[in-house]
Amino acid sequence: MEKVPMARQNSDEIDEFLDGAASFADLMFGFMDGSNDSDEQNSLDFVGGDDEDEAQIEQRRIFWETQEQLLQATLFRTTSLESRIRRATKEALRELDTVGVQCSCRRPVAGYCRKCMQRELSVRLQSLGFNCYICKSKWKSSPEIPPGEHTYLEVLDQSNPRKGDVRVVIELNFRAEFEMARANDDYNKLIAMLSELFVGKTERLKAVIKILCVAAKKCMKEKMMHLAPWRKHKYMQAKWLGTYERTTPAPLLVGILDRPQKPKASMLTFDLRKNLPAMHYTAVEVVR
Ligand SMILES: [Zn+2]
Repeated sequence: MEKVPMARQNSDEIDEFLDGAASFADLMFGFMDGSNDSDEQNSLDFVGGDDEDEAQIEQRRIFWETQEQLLQATLFRTTSLESRIRRATKEALRELDTVGVQCSCRRPVAGYCRKCMQRELSVRLQSLGFNCYICKSKWKSSPEIPPGEHTYLEVLDQSNPRKGDVRVVIELNFRAEFEMARANDDYNKLIAMLSELFVGKTERLKAVIKILCVAAKKCMKEKMMHLAPWRKHKYMQAKWLGTYERTTPAPLLVGILDRPQKPKASMLTFDLRKNLPAMHYTAVEVVR
């Protein structure tokens, strides 16, 4: 067991911007961390069609426009590290799509298996020189949110000692995590700006989650519906930003042997690695 200190990742060109964006959202909408439901009473006034006065309509318009602009700016800004990882991930996913991923779970899943896909992707990114881990977050029930767990990938970049460890999260089903069946058009417009694959630093992820959770809360209030506990900001934060455990997966021998061999550099590295004894699962506890 090795304790990894989560160094504060500072000084990137996005940080200041994101800090500004988040506090702007806080200020404007009085949103702290999803736990303050005290503004319940002032939110429901909007809904009643003819009763809406112009100020409320304007206020509503500004809210959704702001969310859209914040999301756009947060997603659009990206560092070269994130771009490199995103490109490598997309390329690896294309390859995996071609050769197919065999599900090796105890009860194999027909078609797409997220778990096996994550493992194969992680192995490929490792073979490309990225320090890629499978992360499993797990959280207990609290008065506000139910317990849960979530698995995703991360690349840990330690190439710049000045910045310390930089975590880049890779989430394969990002958009699906935020889709709501009964959302309004304004919320759906935000969701449409997301791609299914998210690759981004934790600061960026944090900002995106916040924007979307503020929007989800507003959306459900406008519809006078209850926001499900697993839609809450706290719950979404626990998924990717809470305590988690890292593993380094070993390549699946069965999958490799069954696969048609392709004359590609990445595949050669891949084959060599299966004989390395160091490729067993190792767990690293991360304390936050
Ligand atoms: Zn599987």
